[in-house]
Amino acid sequence: MTTDSKAVTRATHDKVILPVYAPAQFVPVKGKGSRVWDQQGREYIDFAGGIAVTALGHCHPALVAALKQQGETLWHTSNIFTNEPALRLASKLIDATFAERVFFVNSGAEANEAAFKLARHYAIKRHSPYKTKIIAFYNAFHGRTLFTVSVGGQAKYADGFGPKPADIVHVPFNDLAAVKAVMDDHTCAVVLEPIQGEGGITPATPEFLKGVRELCDQHHALLVFDEVQSGMGRSGKLFTYMHYGVTPDILTTAKALGGGFPISAMLTTEEVASVMTVGVHGTTYGGNPLACAVAEAALDTINTPQVLSGVQARHERFVSILQAINEEHGIFEQIRGMGLLIGAELKPKWHGQAGKFLAAAAEQGVMVLVAGPNVVRFVPSLVIDLEDIDQGMARFARAVEAVVKAE
Ligand SMILES: *Cc1c(COP(=O)(O)O)cnc(C)c1O
Repeated sequence: MTTDSKAVTRATHDKVILPVYAPAQFVPVKGKGSRVWDQQGREYIDFAGGIAVTALGHCHPALVAALKQQGETLWHTSNIFTNEPALRLASKLIDATFAERVFFVNSGAEANEAAFKLARHYAIKRHSPYKTKIIAFYNAFHGRTLFTVSVGGQAKYADGFGPKPADIVHVPFNDLAAVKAVMDDHTCAVVLEPIQGEGGITPATPEFLKGVRELCDQHHALLVFDEVQSGMGRSGKLFTYMHYGVTPDILTTAKALGGGFPISAMLTTEEVASVMTVGVHGTTYGGNPLACAVAEAALDTINTPQVLSGVQARHERFVSILQAINEEHGIFEQIRGMGLLIGAELKPKWHGQAGKFLAAAAEQGVMVLVAGPNVVRFVPSLVIDLEDIDQGMARFARAVEAVVKAE
């Protein structure tokens, strides 16, 4: 088989990649802002954002400049040495949040793995070797390592890999009484997404988050917010916890942090961080200068009043067009989410068929996502032009029409 780039097609995927994905039938080769082009030169409007990653669109000039500049300066040092981009990025994350300490890794799963290990280690060091229970939620998603699929609340991701890490209990999301029923002094942490993403775009209720915070305080358990998807401006504030006025002890961020360059971070307080000592946890790539330089440019660009306030205006545009589509076709049960993390839940009649809408949308030249089998998800660039929203949603409306007609 040749490796000439001209010779690879969608069919190559099914021969050379581990068969865990079912990618779209076209192969994107180029992106600019909220537009993407495939191998045939066909253009798409991008409301999928690489799964909530390309928060500044494709090839944003500030990110390209940072990547080029750092790419010609220093790529990698490992944690045997520290580096300037990592120190700058950590300082800026600390200035912008509750956090006092930062740990860099490369993916959402790794940031959560570090968070769960830290929560356990803190409880064991500060309280008791038996304080290991993690309370988590059905439909939660925290990544694909064995610990993170085990804390995640979806059996389809967790089963079939042998014995799981123990002492993890799951209860229904937004159900404070259910948390109370399992909370005790052996609990080291409650782990949740302030807006459940993969599970269907379900925001936490304010009473729920406040109540969980109080329960954690009463039982000396840490509150861990997985903001891998909901963070970095996606909700209209830098992190979603800022809408609720409920502060976690540990927060993870990834996806949009590097705008498409792989990087993630775990943020925590000085007190929680103080149980860690040299050699207790680590990573080769984490805090790589190249990744940190790009993420610093992403943070500088996103954490501005213009970008964050623009998210709300774009939210309203999406929701009003979705409502208009619904008035015509009556397919959505509920349109929900915050900022540019929007889910349109299908009516029971269409349950299990969200993927059909995604495929029909691609046919019409617009990329959308699903969040489970019943929800169509929109996670576009935070700086998408209003014109791109209107054009892309016109294409989506045609896709809905096609699906409804074919029924
Ligand atoms: C995507 C996601 C993860 C996993 O991130 P990876 O980079 O795929 O490891 C974890 N938590 C949430 C909330 C996510 O949306």
